[in-house]
Amino acid sequence: MVMLTGFLWLETLKMFLASGKPVPWSFVHSWNCINCGECCKRYVVELDWEDWVNITRFYGQEVTTPSLGCFKLKKRSNGSCIFLYRVGDKQFCGIQNLKPKSCKLWPFYVREKPVFGFPELAKYRYGHKEFYIYVDTFCRGLSWGIPSKHLTDKILPEIVEIKLGKRIKQTFSTARIYQPSYQTTNFLNQTLSRNPKFSFTEQVL
Ligand code: SF4
Ligand code: SF4
Repeated sequence: MVMLTGFLWLETLKMFLASGKPVPWSFVHSWNCINCGECCKRYVVELDWEDWVNITRFYGQEVTTPSLGCFKLKKRSNGSCIFLYRVGDKQFCGIQNLKPKSCKLWPFYVREKPVFGFPELAKYRYGHKEFYIYVDTFCRGLSWGIPSKHLTDKILPEIVEIKLGKRIKQTFSTARIYQPSYQTTNFLNQTLSRNPKFSFTEQVL
Protein backbone atom coordinates (compact mmCIF):
# COMPACT_ATOMS: atom_id res chain seq x y z
CA MET A 1 0.00 0.00 0.00
CA VAL A 2 1.29 3.48 -0.87
CA MET A 3 1.34 5.82 2.13
CA LEU A 4 1.36 9.59 1.84
CA THR A 5 2.63 11.58 4.77
CA GLY A 6 2.46 15.07 6.25
CA PHE A 7 1.61 17.98 4.01
CA LEU A 8 1.16 15.83 0.91
CA TRP A 9 -1.28 13.60 2.78
CA LEU A 10 -3.33 16.56 4.00
CA GLU A 11 -3.37 18.31 0.63
CA THR A 12 -4.38 15.12 -1.17
CA LEU A 13 -7.17 14.49 1.31
CA LYS A 14 -8.42 18.05 0.97
CA MET A 15 -8.45 17.62 -2.80
CA PHE A 16 -10.56 14.48 -2.48
CA LEU A 17 -12.97 16.11 -0.04
CA ALA A 18 -13.36 19.19 -2.18
CA SER A 19 -14.17 17.02 -5.20
CA GLY A 20 -16.98 15.27 -3.34
CA LYS A 21 -15.86 11.96 -4.81
CA PRO A 22 -15.33 8.80 -2.80
CA VAL A 23 -11.98 8.72 -1.00
CA PRO A 24 -9.58 5.74 -1.04
CA TRP A 25 -9.75 3.79 2.21
CA SER A 26 -6.04 4.40 2.94
CA PHE A 27 -6.94 7.92 4.15
CA VAL A 28 -9.30 6.55 6.76
CA HIS A 29 -8.11 5.99 10.32
CA SER A 30 -11.29 4.24 11.31
CA TRP A 31 -15.03 4.25 11.04
CA ASN A 32 -17.65 4.04 13.73
CA CYS A 33 -21.31 4.77 13.03
CA ILE A 34 -22.52 7.48 15.40
CA ASN A 35 -26.20 6.79 14.65
CA CYS A 36 -26.81 10.22 13.20
CA GLY A 37 -29.24 8.67 10.68
CA GLU A 38 -28.28 11.18 8.00
CA CYS A 39 -27.52 8.51 5.37
CA CYS A 40 -30.97 6.99 5.92
CA LYS A 41 -32.54 10.37 5.21
CA ARG A 42 -30.44 11.46 2.27
CA TYR A 43 -30.31 8.32 0.16
CA VAL A 44 -32.87 6.08 -1.46
CA VAL A 45 -32.19 2.40 -0.88
CA GLU A 46 -32.37 0.16 -3.93
CA LEU A 47 -33.13 -3.46 -3.14
CA ASP A 48 -31.74 -6.48 -4.93
CA TRP A 49 -34.10 -9.36 -5.48
CA GLU A 50 -33.07 -11.24 -2.35
CA ASP A 51 -33.48 -8.19 -0.12
CA TRP A 52 -36.86 -7.44 -1.65
CA VAL A 53 -38.12 -10.98 -1.02
CA ASN A 54 -36.85 -11.03 2.57
CA ILE A 55 -38.23 -7.63 3.49
CA THR A 56 -41.63 -7.93 1.81
CA ARG A 57 -42.14 -11.37 3.33
CA PHE A 58 -42.08 -9.81 6.79
CA TYR A 59 -43.36 -6.29 6.18
CA GLY A 60 -45.48 -6.60 3.04
CA GLN A 61 -45.00 -5.01 -0.37
CA GLU A 62 -46.29 -1.66 0.87
CA VAL A 63 -42.88 -0.82 2.38
CA THR A 64 -41.30 -0.85 -1.07
CA THR A 65 -41.94 1.01 -4.27
CA PRO A 66 -41.15 -0.07 -7.86
CA SER A 67 -38.73 2.01 -9.86
CA LEU A 68 -37.09 1.46 -13.24
CA GLY A 69 -36.21 -2.21 -13.05
CA CYS A 70 -35.80 -2.42 -9.29
CA PHE A 71 -37.57 -1.85 -6.01
CA LYS A 72 -36.74 0.82 -3.47
CA LEU A 73 -37.51 1.20 0.20
CA LYS A 74 -40.26 3.73 0.82
CA LYS A 75 -39.56 6.96 2.61
CA ARG A 76 -41.56 8.84 5.19
CA SER A 77 -42.94 12.28 4.40
CA ASN A 78 -39.92 13.84 6.14
CA GLY A 79 -37.60 12.06 3.72
CA SER A 80 -36.24 9.42 6.08
CA CYS A 81 -36.27 5.71 5.34
CA ILE A 82 -39.47 4.06 6.48
CA PHE A 83 -37.43 1.87 8.84
CA LEU A 84 -35.46 4.62 10.56
CA TYR A 85 -36.31 5.07 14.24
CA ARG A 86 -35.24 7.63 16.79
CA VAL A 87 -34.31 6.74 20.37
CA GLY A 88 -33.25 9.83 22.29
CA ASP A 89 -30.73 11.66 20.17
CA LYS A 90 -29.75 8.51 18.23
CA GLN A 91 -31.30 7.03 15.13
CA PHE A 92 -31.48 3.34 14.47
CA CYS A 93 -32.30 0.96 11.66
CA GLY A 94 -35.45 -0.92 12.59
CA ILE A 95 -34.64 -3.95 10.43
CA GLN A 96 -31.14 -4.89 11.56
CA ASN A 97 -31.70 -8.57 10.75
CA LEU A 98 -33.05 -7.80 7.28
CA LYS A 99 -30.97 -4.74 6.52
CA PRO A 100 -30.40 -4.44 2.75
CA LYS A 101 -26.96 -5.24 1.45
CA SER A 102 -26.40 -1.71 0.19
CA CYS A 103 -27.04 -0.38 3.72
CA LYS A 104 -24.63 -2.93 5.20
CA LEU A 105 -21.89 -1.82 2.84
CA TRP A 106 -22.38 1.89 3.42
CA PRO A 107 -20.23 4.05 3.55
CA PHE A 108 -17.78 1.72 1.74
CA TYR A 109 -17.63 1.06 -1.97
CA VAL A 110 -15.92 -2.22 -2.84
CA ARG A 111 -14.99 -2.54 -6.50
CA GLU A 112 -12.97 -4.96 -8.59
CA LYS A 113 -11.55 -2.06 -10.56
CA PRO A 114 -10.35 1.38 -9.39
CA VAL A 115 -13.46 3.10 -10.68
CA PHE A 116 -12.88 6.24 -8.62
CA GLY A 117 -9.18 6.46 -9.48
CA PHE A 118 -6.00 6.30 -7.39
CA PRO A 119 -5.59 2.52 -7.55
CA GLU A 120 -2.53 2.37 -5.30
CA LEU A 121 -4.34 4.20 -2.52
CA ALA A 122 -7.55 2.25 -2.91
CA LYS A 123 -6.09 -1.23 -3.33
CA TYR A 124 -7.00 -3.74 -0.63
CA ARG A 125 -5.97 -7.38 -0.59
CA TYR A 126 -8.44 -9.92 0.65
CA GLY A 127 -7.03 -13.45 0.46
CA HIS A 128 -5.48 -13.81 -2.98
CA LYS A 129 -7.70 -11.19 -4.55
CA GLU A 130 -7.30 -7.45 -4.83
CA PHE A 131 -10.18 -5.03 -4.44
CA TYR A 132 -10.43 -1.28 -4.60
CA ILE A 133 -12.21 0.24 -1.63
CA TYR A 134 -13.39 3.83 -1.25
CA VAL A 135 -15.49 5.64 1.34
CA ASP A 136 -18.32 8.12 0.88
CA THR A 137 -17.37 11.32 2.69
CA PHE A 138 -20.99 12.11 3.50
CA CYS A 139 -20.77 9.69 6.43
CA ARG A 140 -20.05 11.38 9.77
CA GLY A 141 -18.55 8.30 11.35
CA LEU A 142 -15.29 8.47 9.41
CA SER A 143 -12.08 9.62 11.04
CA TRP A 144 -9.07 10.46 8.92
CA GLY A 145 -5.49 9.40 9.45
CA ILE A 146 -3.23 6.37 9.30
CA PRO A 147 -5.43 3.29 8.92
CA SER A 148 -5.90 1.50 12.22
CA LYS A 149 -5.63 -2.26 12.67
CA HIS A 150 -9.29 -2.23 13.53
CA LEU A 151 -10.04 -0.85 10.09
CA THR A 152 -7.67 -3.04 8.09
CA ASP A 153 -8.13 -6.29 10.00
CA LYS A 154 -11.73 -6.13 11.21
CA ILE A 155 -13.92 -3.67 9.34
CA LEU A 156 -12.63 -4.00 5.77
CA PRO A 157 -12.51 -7.81 5.64
CA GLU A 158 -16.09 -7.88 6.91
CA ILE A 159 -17.16 -5.36 4.30
CA VAL A 160 -15.54 -7.40 1.51
CA GLU A 161 -17.20 -10.57 2.77
CA ILE A 162 -20.60 -8.86 2.76
CA LYS A 163 -19.97 -7.63 -0.76
CA LEU A 164 -19.03 -11.15 -1.87
CA GLY A 165 -22.07 -12.66 -0.18
CA LYS A 166 -19.87 -14.71 2.16
CA ARG A 167 -21.22 -13.00 5.27
CA ILE A 168 -24.63 -11.79 6.43
CA LYS A 169 -24.06 -10.91 10.09
CA GLN A 170 -22.29 -7.66 10.85
CA THR A 171 -20.00 -7.29 13.83
CA PHE A 172 -17.46 -4.58 13.09
CA SER A 173 -19.14 -2.90 10.13
CA THR A 174 -22.20 -1.65 11.97
CA ALA A 175 -22.95 0.72 14.84
CA ARG A 176 -21.55 -0.45 18.17
CA ILE A 177 -24.57 0.64 20.12
CA TYR A 178 -23.45 -0.36 23.61
CA GLN A 179 -19.99 1.12 23.42
CA PRO A 180 -19.11 4.66 24.49
CA SER A 181 -20.06 7.22 21.92
CA TYR A 182 -17.67 7.80 19.12
CA GLN A 183 -14.98 10.39 19.77
CA THR A 184 -12.97 11.96 17.04
CA THR A 185 -9.31 12.20 17.88
CA ASN A 186 -8.60 15.77 16.96
CA PHE A 187 -9.93 18.96 15.47
CA LEU A 188 -9.04 17.95 11.93
CA ASN A 189 -10.92 14.68 12.15
CA GLN A 190 -14.01 16.34 13.53
CA THR A 191 -14.11 19.12 11.03
CA LEU A 192 -13.24 17.17 7.92
CA SER A 193 -15.67 14.40 8.64
CA ARG A 194 -18.57 16.79 9.18
CA ASN A 195 -17.92 19.11 6.32
CA PRO A 196 -16.25 17.68 3.23
CA LYS A 197 -16.04 21.15 1.73
CA PHE A 198 -14.13 22.44 4.74
CA SER A 199 -10.98 24.40 4.10
CA PHE A 200 -8.52 23.79 6.92
CA THR A 201 -6.62 27.04 6.33
CA GLU A 202 -9.69 29.25 6.24
CA GLN A 203 -11.10 27.81 9.46
CA VAL A 204 -7.85 28.13 11.38
CA LEU A 205 -7.46 31.73 10.31
S1 SF4 B 1 -22.46 7.80 11.04
FE1 SF4 B 1 -22.50 7.41 8.81
S2 SF4 B 1 -23.39 5.34 8.64
FE2 SF4 B 1 -23.83 6.06 10.71
S3 SF4 B 1 -25.89 6.98 10.55
FE3 SF4 B 1 -24.40 8.65 10.29
S4 SF4 B 1 -24.08 8.84 8.05
FE4 SF4 B 1 -25.07 6.84 8.46
S1 SF4 C 1 -33.00 0.00 5.90
FE1 SF4 C 1 -32.10 0.66 7.82
S2 SF4 C 1 -29.98 1.23 7.34
FE2 SF4 C 1 -31.11 1.14 5.39
S3 SF4 C 1 -31.79 3.24 5.02
FE3 SF4 C 1 -33.46 2.18 6.11
S4 SF4 C 1 -33.12 2.63 8.29
FE4 SF4 C 1 -31.21 3.10 7.18
